[in-house]
Amino acid sequence: MTRTLAEAAADAATCPKCRLAETRTQVVFGVGDPDADLMFIGEAPGFHEDKQGEPFVGAAGQLLTRMLGEIGLRREDVYIANVLKCRPPANRDPLPDEIETCTPWLVEQLSIIQPSLVGTLGNFATKFVLNTSQGITRLRGQTFPWHGRTVIPTFHPSAILRSGGDGSKQFELFREDFLLIGRTLEALQQPPPAEDPGIVAAGEPAAGEEQLELF
Ligand code: URA
Repeated sequence: MTRTLAEAAADAATCPKCRLAETRTQVVFGVGDPDADLMFIGEAPGFHEDKQGEPFVGAAGQLLTRMLGEIGLRREDVYIANVLKCRPPANRDPLPDEIETCTPWLVEQLSIIQPSLVGTLGNFATKFVLNTSQGITRLRGQTFPWHGRTVIPTFHPSAILRSGGDGSKQFELFREDFLLIGRTLEALQQPPPAEDPGIVAAGEPAAGEEQLELF
């Protein structure tokens, strides 16, 4: 039986399944519209997210919120989550066993929300979702079919801030990616004409994507 997002979040709040349960302040499950057409996936909560219990609320989150505004969206219009629901100590990279243990939460979020478009933020989420070893610089700014949905990878907002923010070359690409996300979302929200097969091809599951094949 499918549960609601709130029920899943309540269950996740006491998740004891990996070592991050011992160091977290709280589980950062996700935020936004449970019926969103657009979902963003980041890496893992940082210091501020761990304290406040909400993804992307620090400086990177403020940039994400601003980019959403540029395409006419508010945080409440989308859903925002991370691959890991708990902060790794000192913001270290997620470990493979932590990802494996945490993946069912993300799978459940995707299967409840059923977003038509997924924006992956940064190398980590992109490699994880698309099951690729290619880096974000190669993958960004393109649309990928994925399990009947569309994925658009872009830079992690923290990487944009580190690379110089608004004045940087990366920022221009980041802005282009958000414009692509906006246009793609609009196209996906149009009912397809009767004879049009639609712009989204059914995604072929990538090899090894065992857990992500479940939704
Ligand atoms: N970075 C992430 O990947 N996720 C957050 O929630 C905050 C910063």
